[in-house]
Amino acid sequence: METITNNKTENTENTKNTETSLKTVLIAGGAGFIGSNLCRRLLSENNKVICLDNLFTGKMENIQEMFSNKNFAFINHDIVEPITTISGNIDEIYHLACPASPPKYQIDPIYTLKINFTGTLNLLQLAREKNSRILFSSTSEVYGEPQKTPQREDYRGNVNTIGIRSCYDEGKRVAETLMMDYHNKYGVDTRIVRIFNTYGPYMDKDDGRVVTNMIRQMLNDEDITIYGDGTQTRSFCYIDDQIEGQIRLMNSDYHSPVNIGNPREISVNKLCEILKTLIDTRSTIVFYPLPSDDPTNRNPDIDLAKKLLDWEPETDLIDGLKQTINYMKTDMSGKELSE
Ligand code: UDP
Repeated sequence: METITNNKTENTENTKNTETSLKTVLIAGGAGFIGSNLCRRLLSENNKVICLDNLFTGKMENIQEMFSNKNFAFINHDIVEPITTISGNIDEIYHLACPASPPKYQIDPIYTLKINFTGTLNLLQLAREKNSRILFSSTSEVYGEPQKTPQREDYRGNVNTIGIRSCYDEGKRVAETLMMDYHNKYGVDTRIVRIFNTYGPYMDKDDGRVVTNMIRQMLNDEDITIYGDGTQTRSFCYIDDQIEGQIRLMNSDYHSPVNIGNPREISVNKLCEILKTLIDTRSTIVFYPLPSDDPTNRNPDIDLAKKLLDWEPETDLIDGLKQTINYMKTDMSGKELSE
């Protein structure tokens, strides 16, 4: 493993907590979209952050500006391999390490399964050794093609075990099981968040998600790709709300899964319509076949998060999309936002 702090490569894997920092937090998948936003937030609250990532889908550019912070360290490591050489205390582990975009996690489905089983096992082992609290990022995909809406945590889902999404869906399901088994058998202090579609700055512009695809296409006057007839729904949560929910869950003492997402459900067609009001574009819609096992609906029931964490999303969809568009325009030829 190689650790980089303040742009220097070091042989040791951890540095002592500085006097002023509050907690030492390891973020697996810390160079990804959610992970890098979480690194930034935890650093801003004076924590020491160890970002662990193998850059499979995470990006150095997402974390570059943090290298100047003395409380930040980066370890280039694949969690599928044992994590043996981090010295020192770790108070909390956020396990966000897994490609989350369907085209990316389908590139190598067996690797996706390994990340979720072996990778989660390795992080749980680390949590056990270090006596760390550990939060696993699960997904709304555990509900599969839901026959109940909105989806509540006690709904057990309707998942295809052998489809093109199964490596991710079943991987996340078995990882939830592993988390609970480590909690029950070894007393590891576990948390499980079920993340519903989340968007915002630092999302990979090319990873194939609907929000980034549509914004990129509209900014470049390219065809807007809608899969199926566009009536399938998703519920889009802004990144800052997502992170606030996860931090509150980490600070709670609840071990069973908790949905974190925005209950405002809209169709893909409606999302496209909204984005067209925000971007001055000549793009037109082209319909493509719906990929197999693409869920028809997603809508989190967030009553548990409200009661348990006193949390609910605060960012309006239009405001969040404007932030995302502005971020995506920074290195694209770009057009001005429509007023
Ligand atoms: N989608 C689409 N056009 C795109 C990308 C995605 O119509 O260019 C659809 C996709 O088929 C799905 C929805 O948008 O029904 C959300 O897709 P995304 O990959 O963002 O998330 P997920 O399917 O994992 O919820």
